[in-house]
Amino acid sequence: MSNSITVLGSWAIEDFGETSSFLVRAPGSSFLLDAGPGVTRQMHQISCSFTTVDFVFLTHVHADHLLGIPYLVFKRSVQQRQTAVPVNRLHVVGNVATIDAAKTLLQACYPDRSFDIEWRVVDEGDEITMNDWNVTAFNADHTVPVTGYRFEHKDASLAYLPDTCPIKTVLPFISGVSLLLIEAFGTSADFTELARNQKHLLAKDAAQIAQEAQPQKVLLYHMHLPYRDERKQEQLIEEFCQNCSLVPIVAADLLEIGF
Ligand SMILES: [Zn+2]
Ligand SMILES: [Zn+2]
Repeated sequence: MSNSITVLGSWAIEDFGETSSFLVRAPGSSFLLDAGPGVTRQMHQISCSFTTVDFVFLTHVHADHLLGIPYLVFKRSVQQRQTAVPVNRLHVVGNVATIDAAKTLLQACYPDRSFDIEWRVVDEGDEITMNDWNVTAFNADHTVPVTGYRFEHKDASLAYLPDTCPIKTVLPFISGVSLLLIEAFGTSADFTELARNQKHLLAKDAAQIAQEAQPQKVLLYHMHLPYRDERKQEQLIEEFCQNCSLVPIVAADLLEIGF
């Protein structure tokens, strides 16, 4: 098991911890899944150089997933100038709305600078080759256009299912992976109305999807604030386990998982 993922941000709301960002480190490749506001701070925490990341995969235009982009790009460019070794071009991948927003955000924050970035717009079924990895984009269903990703390597696979309502069409893209990242916003008792209105997955929804997808490991993230409480988090896990035979890993900021 030579690949690892570090949870840079695990929460749906920033008050308590950091929001969605994950760093994947594999032989010859490092890449980010989403860029929440704390992404650069968290990378500092684990002493990860920004220039080691060549790809950022963005899911959608909500601040908890996107707001870290300008500073990440800026700090990477500063590090790039300071290092003697050649640094690869940065690729930022996302659906058309997300790439537009990321470009606008970067331009608004740094109108006086230009950055060497390969912007990659993807739609459902599009594939990207990234070093030894094959990446497939797929659509989920949230209040704004949202893109998930499946990553395949010769001996490992990973699926990132972002904010979404329960949806069956994602199953072919997330089935049988080594590790599935899936949101579990809250329990049915606490958040049914909010999850349905704002198109999120409850713990039981995540469980039903994971039960059909049958990953080797499943990581729950994007929890709402009440689940910082240990007792409430146990309720979340209990609802998941009532609907799925897999024992989930619950994300925590800076947790590292092999896959
Ligand atoms: Zn979110
Ligand atoms: Zn969202």
